[in-house]
Formats: sequence, structure tokens, C-alpha cells
Amino acid sequence: MLKKGTKLYSILKRKCPVCQEADFFISKPYNLKNLGKIHDSCCNCNESFSKEPGFYYGAMYVSYGLGVAMFVSIFLLTYLIYPDSSAFTYITLIAIAMVFLGPFLYELSKIIWANMFMSFKQKK
Ligand SMILES: [Zn+2]
Repeated sequence: MLKKGTKLYSILKRKCPVCQEADFFISKPYNLKNLGKIHDSCCNCNESFSKEPGFYYGAMYVSYGLGVAMFVSIFLLTYLIYPDSSAFTYITLIAIAMVFLGPFLYELSKIIWANMFMSFKQKK
């Protein structure tokens, strides 16, 4: 299912959207010192990862979407498992998820944004 050449492959494997060979991010996930830092360009195909200044500001729209999806899923899961939960329980669970999933969602939004504007090119 996860074939090379698909956008999902680049997103989940954190690879360059164009060649899908080299890493997109400088460090592993949850390395807080280098969180979300990306290479200037691909070290394999030389594609620039920053199309223009402020290119990744747009990733906040993706991040917003991911955040809302996470809140709704946590809310529904909590509601289905413990229908009698108080508002405090919901807020606590969402806050905990935000702290632990925040770095992951931040990087995910960046690579999804990059994949919206860069496409895989088969090597000739
Ligand atoms: Zn590349």
C-alpha cells in the first residue's frame, strides 16, 4: 500500500517530496532542539525545500486542520468509552494529547504542506 512515488510515502517516511530518497527533516521526530527544521535543499536531487520566503507559514492551515481532527477524535473516543465524563476530563485529555502530539503534528503539517506543492519525479 505504501508505495514509493505516492505522497503518503513521502509524508509517512519523512522523505524529500520530489525524489523520496533523502530525508526532509534534519533530525528524528521529538528532537526538540531541531524540531521542524528542514534541510535547505535535498541532498540527493538538489530540489529546494523552501520555494519562497515564508513558504511554510501556510503549513499552519494544515496544522489547524490536523489539530481539529485530533480534538474531534479524542472527544468522540472519550465520549464513546466514558459517556459520563466531565468537561474537565475532556479538557485534560486534549491538553495532554496536545503536549505529546504537538511536535509530531507540527512536523507532519510541514511535510504535508511541502507535498501539496512538490510532486514526485521519476529518476531518468
Ligand atoms: Zn530529493
